[in-house]
Amino acid sequence: VSSVELTEHFLERIERLDTQLNSFITVTAEEAMTAAKEADARRGRGQASRLTGVPIAQKDIFCTQGVRSSCASRMLDNFISPYDAGVVERFKAEGCPMLGKTNMDEFAMGSSNETSFYGSVKNPWDVERVPGGSSGGSAAAVAARLAPAATGTDTGGSIRQPAALNGITGLKPTYGRVSRWGMIAFASSLDQGGPMAQTAEDCGLLLNVMSGFDQRDSTSLQRDPEDFTRALGNSLKGLRMGLPKQFFAEGMDAGVAAALESAMAVYRDLGVTFTEVDLPNSGLAAPAYYVVAPAECSSNLARLDGVRYGYRCEDPKDLMDLYTRSRGEGFGEEVKRRIMIGTYALSAGYFDAYYLKAQKIRRLIADDFARAFESVDLIFAPTTPTPAFRLGEKTDDPITMYLSDIYTIAVNLAGLPAMSLPAGFVDELPVGMQLIGNYFDESRLLGAAHQYQ
Ligand code: GLN
Repeated sequence: VSSVELTEHFLERIERLDTQLNSFITVTAEEAMTAAKEADARRGRGQASRLTGVPIAQKDIFCTQGVRSSCASRMLDNFISPYDAGVVERFKAEGCPMLGKTNMDEFAMGSSNETSFYGSVKNPWDVERVPGGSSGGSAAAVAARLAPAATGTDTGGSIRQPAALNGITGLKPTYGRVSRWGMIAFASSLDQGGPMAQTAEDCGLLLNVMSGFDQRDSTSLQRDPEDFTRALGNSLKGLRMGLPKQFFAEGMDAGVAAALESAMAVYRDLGVTFTEVDLPNSGLAAPAYYVVAPAECSSNLARLDGVRYGYRCEDPKDLMDLYTRSRGEGFGEEVKRRIMIGTYALSAGYFDAYYLKAQKIRRLIADDFARAFESVDLIFAPTTPTPAFRLGEKTDDPITMYLSDIYTIAVNLAGLPAMSLPAGFVDELPVGMQLIGNYFDESRLLGAAHQYQ
């Protein structure tokens, strides 16, 4: 098929189905069709690369030139970015038409998409349920086949958790693999962009395009380019997977446990051996994360003051009124909660007690993983404690909401790559399994996922 046909197909599905799902904030139909024509012309000239002509959806956290880049916040509802994010540039250069910008939790803070200024996304498997978050729009769009692939970002689980709840595959790369330039910052030391698609193979193809050194991002990794699809065909015979004993403890949802058991049986048949590994500090991951992430977000969001760009309140009396009302009206509840927690944690008298302590825990968590990877190649874990929960079920209880990421957060604190892939169903709702790799081991992760799929 031509790129024009493909792009038309997905735009038609978006128009027909997304009024119900709300997975897109902005649809860029005209731009997509122009890019599709160019892609077809490029193919005609024999200048196509692997993904030329394949349309994709971009999470609205990525800046896109000439297109609203809202981060699902009222604060940036009127923000038309003057430039493209590094990731967006790369997809444009590849010749991938952009279908639009996907819905998300406001500034990527959330696990259910319910903090979006544009209303929550619905899970396509059951529209009374959440799609997860914060990349819930991307996950729902891919699951409902409104897009063949999408980008996400993962600060504490935001690619893996929605991938699990929507029955798709998502990869959070090693910290530094994917440029953060133009990716609106939430918690800079944790944020990492990555691919979301139906399969591991697709994720590998997407990561080939997305990743690479970017001198505009000071934490970007300078490494030789690799082909992340190179290990897809490798046999898993003799592969050692670790089961973190803290994750498979008492209290795990019975349906999730059963789905993971059957996935493990498949892996055993493929020649994988399982052994227990100890991650003794994993219980400290969520508390440490909820100090580090708010601290960094309070600093990152300080730039949104109603002066330079973004939302500005009406008729400010003076400068202080301009700041306080613009921020008070522009940010939603969850964002404000985190700014306050973070500002407190970073304030002079408390820095050592909270932020510094959380950073020390981070080191302990990274050391736990390093020790585990001395005896195993990959770690096998649940992605989420339960399948998709009901819309509204956890909105009044931030702590319960925060706990939906207990299995994903430690990976971000350590900067490791990890992915979620479908493991089965509980009551007709998808359940994911998580594979965690050592630094730079994305190819092996993708290979292990591909062999299962
Ligand atoms: N749910 C977590 C949070 O609310 C993670 C979000 C993310 O990864 N962006 O912070």
